Amino acid sequence: MMAPVDMLRRLVEMESPTGDAVRMSHIRSFLAAELTALGGDASPRGEHLLARFGEQRAGETIVLVAHMDTVWPAGTLQRMPFSVTGDAAHGPGALDMKGGIVVMLEAIRRSGPPPRPLAVLLTADEEIGSPTGRPLVEEVSAQAHAVLVVEPPVRDGTITTRRSGLARYQLRIRGQAAHAGHQGGGVSAVSELAHQTLVLNGLVDDERGVRVNVGQVGGGTGDNVVAAEAWARVDARAWTAPEQQQLERAIRGLRPVLAGATIEVAGGITRPPMIPSDESAELAARTVEIAAGLGQPLTENASGGGSDGNFAAAVGAPVIDGLGPIGVGAHADDERVSLRSIGQRSDLLAALLAQL
Ligand SMILES: [Zn+2]
Repeated sequence: MMAPVDMLRRLVEMESPTGDAVRMSHIRSFLAAELTALGGDASPRGEHLLARFGEQRAGETIVLVAHMDTVWPAGTLQRMPFSVTGDAAHGPGALDMKGGIVVMLEAIRRSGPPPRPLAVLLTADEEIGSPTGRPLVEEVSAQAHAVLVVEPPVRDGTITTRRSGLARYQLRIRGQAAHAGHQGGGVSAVSELAHQTLVLNGLVDDERGVRVNVGQVGGGTGDNVVAAEAWARVDARAWTAPEQQQLERAIRGLRPVLAGATIEVAGGITRPPMIPSDESAELAARTVEIAAGLGQPLTENASGGGSDGNFAAAVGAPVIDGLGPIGVGAHADDERVSLRSIGQRSDLLAALLAQL
């Protein structure tokens, strides 16, 4: 197997935007071959990849989860080629989460024959909320001894044991078109959208960790036309299921402020929150203990982002997430990952595979 930095280069240079069937099949075949070389029995499941090591037994299997897709469109490499400066490796997907895939492969190699059966799941649509990956994550996690997710941690020296629940909504607002010069004519959908944006912002509660972001808006047909239509795309997050449902009720219950305007709300909850259970708390404690044995002090952390770990936790599996390498700039032009951290996290994951 190649050195971790070379493996990272190979994976980053295999661009894999979500939904690009041809590119996804390339990286899937490459990873299937790597996992087979490590002793796994790898086969595609739709556009995803599942590899099993050893005879699977209910309640015994450790499941490793990562995603192959990135948010970067094909061709990004041309302006953002893979490069290494000191400890930092830069490139599209270097941190989220090809660095995590390198850790996963390295850990399997370093751990030797695992005492427990192992399943490796590489999904292909995590970055758009796992519409087809979700049932597979649920199926593989349902009977797992532990599910370990190699997403990047929130901070160095941490694992992620809690994640927000996520929802996405689309607002469609209708008003009534009119000539902008006719006083009092029409109902502006754009003005209504402005009102609703402020109402949505009012749902934010920093203390309770409730976040609502009106991320994209549009509307109208010309500067001299009172806008007949407007739209918005909204991201909403909460730490607990009841708060997520309360938020959903508030967003679905939006009422127009302007007489004559209407609002339609589509979308809904895409990821349930990942909430610690007794089993996952025990697993986290054991993980911290094993890390301490390697001289790697670890603390638990909560993340406002979602991952496939949310779905694994929702079917009752004990989950440790954020086991990937540290870095900065996920989904941003300065995305980079620490090579030293890839080494440390590979040691940690190898120890978990051997000792959990
Ligand atoms: Zn990710």
